[in-house]
Amino acid sequence: SESKVLMTAEEISRTMDRLAMEIVERHGNCESVAILGIQRRGVDLAARLKVALEKRAQREIPGGQLDINLYRDDWTSLEVQPQINKTEIFFDIDGKDIVLVDDVLFTGRTTRAALEAILDFGRPNRVELLVLVDRGHRELPVAADYVGKTIDTRRGEHVDVYLSERDEREEVVLTN
Ligand code: 5GP
Ligand code: MG
Repeated sequence: SESKVLMTAEEISRTMDRLAMEIVERHGNCESVAILGIQRRGVDLAARLKVALEKRAQREIPGGQLDINLYRDDWTSLEVQPQINKTEIFFDIDGKDIVLVDDVLFTGRTTRAALEAILDFGRPNRVELLVLVDRGHRELPVAADYVGKTIDTRRGEHVDVYLSERDEREEVVLTN
C-alpha cells in the first residue's frame, strides 16, 4: 500500500486556527457556543478548538464528548448504525449552539448517531458540524459547516489522522 501526506503538522495547526476563526465569525462572542467531540481524535480536536475559542472569545466554552462505536466491516446497509456508548455532557445543552467535532467525515452515519444522542440529551438551539477532513462518499444527507480540508478519496482508501495527543507524530496521510 502507498501513503501520501495530505496535511503536515503545520497545516493542521493553521487549519484549526482558521476553523476557530470561522466559528467566531458566525458566533461573535460565542455566548451560547458549546463544543462536543466525537470519541478519540474528534475529542482531541475539540479540546484544541476549545482552547483557541476561549482565547479569542475571552470566556469559558462548555465542552463534552460522545463515544460512538464503529463496526465498519458490518456496514452493508444503512440499517446498521454506529452504536452510541457513552455521552459525557456535563453542561445544560438547552439553547446551546453545539459545534460537533470529528476528525473525518465519510458516510455521515456517525454524525447521524451523534445527533440522535445529542437530541436525546436536551434541546440545543442548533447543532453544527466541524471536521478536519471531509473525504466524501456520503450515504446520508449530512454536510459539515466547518471543513478543514476536502479530500477526494476512493471508497477503499483510508485517511489516517495522527495527532500528537495520542500518536507519535502529527499529520494526515492518505493510504490506499
Ligand atoms: P462516517 O460515519 O461518516 O462514515 O465516518 C466517520 C467516522 O468514522 C468518524 O468518527 C471518523 O473518525 C471515522 N472515519 C471514517 N472514515 C475514516 C477515515 O478514512 N479515516 C479516519 N481516520 N477515520 C475515519
Ligand atoms: Mg472517529
